[in-house]
Amino acid sequence: MPRPISVTISVSALAHNLGVVRQHLDQATAAGAARSAGTPRVPPSIWAVIKAHGYGHGIEQAMQGFAQADGLAMLDLAEAAHCRESGWGKPLLLLEGYFEPDDLHVVDRHRLTTVVHCQPQLDMLARFRPQHPLNIFLKLNTGMNRLGFEPGAYRQAYRHAQELQARGVVGTLGRMTHFANADGPQGIAAQHDVFRRVAGDLPGPASVCNSAATLRYPEIAVADSPAASWVRPGICLYGASPFFDTDAASFGLRPAMSLRSRIIAIQALQPGDTVGYGSLFTAQAPTRVGVVACGYADGYPRHAGTGTPIVVEGVRTRVLGRVSMDMLAVDLTPVPDASIGAPVSLWGADGPSVDEVAQAAGTIGYELLCALAPRVPVRTTP
Ligand SMILES: *Cc1c(COP(=O)(O)O)cnc(C)c1O
Repeated sequence: MPRPISVTISVSALAHNLGVVRQHLDQATAAGAARSAGTPRVPPSIWAVIKAHGYGHGIEQAMQGFAQADGLAMLDLAEAAHCRESGWGKPLLLLEGYFEPDDLHVVDRHRLTTVVHCQPQLDMLARFRPQHPLNIFLKLNTGMNRLGFEPGAYRQAYRHAQELQARGVVGTLGRMTHFANADGPQGIAAQHDVFRRVAGDLPGPASVCNSAATLRYPEIAVADSPAASWVRPGICLYGASPFFDTDAASFGLRPAMSLRSRIIAIQALQPGDTVGYGSLFTAQAPTRVGVVACGYADGYPRHAGTGTPIVVEGVRTRVLGRVSMDMLAVDLTPVPDASIGAPVSLWGADGPSVDEVAQAAGTIGYELLCALAPRVPVRTTP
């Protein structure tokens, strides 16, 4: 019999979360239409971001769950090709573009949409003769300083791309940027101003919003023509929050990943006894401790110390001491009847949220979802 740990991926939760984002954008669109009476307004299209193996949920699961998305966005060319080959007919976006000239054959063959974020990429494109014009998003660096043409070079790059468009190398020519602080107090104002000043008057679709910006500033994604605007939510589609201080449930989002295991041993600690490596937890009173088959080699964060929330037999309790490679200890005081075999929820539908566990470990839900270890068996539910 395998270890009693497994992860369940709910395809319906993925689909539900996409619907929540869609509804949120519809509401912002209606509000925008009310403000600008006369100007027709349409909701933005949605790239569902499935990089990092669908934030740890699996590419197949993400493709099923996001079947109603307008497109899928990712980094890996092979993953994009796989999506196309397994029947995804709608757009696929490469968020980092391509890395060498030969990649453009893959982009062309699979009709991928690609980001172009630097001059060498544009030069590779200029030397390429595609079978079909390639749809691109030319990326502007508005202050994140990761990818994108700097503001002073953007319009020249855009003109260059327009020449390629006239030659049939480029099809749709879009504009894109990425916000550094959509989730924080700084917000997006400064970067959005740069985007509007440098690229606001140029034709073609625009794509600026990640999850945080989509949830917090949906109005900036509302456009006046179909396909003029694309949002790029990732984390919220998996039912986790992009914000430190607002949980995913308050948006109506549902966790799509549930990590579960069982208790495999029970210890009765006397006052002064300790548990685990480093003896970091010392019992003050007689304490029943459950040992759970889940450790950092499964993707549970080692930095989640005593007090991290965890659910045993439906009852919320806490982790005790240091997480080890294959096991961790929990306080059974609130669940006195729990015995060996008792079900444990580490995060997800019937456990704490992945964001709560992440906060206790000094990280973000993104990292825990992406770090789920391949050794954990996956069950997919419709
Ligand atoms: C990862 C990523 C996203 C999605 O970000 P979330 O915070 O998960 O919504 C959007 N755009 C780009 C360019 C990204 O790299």
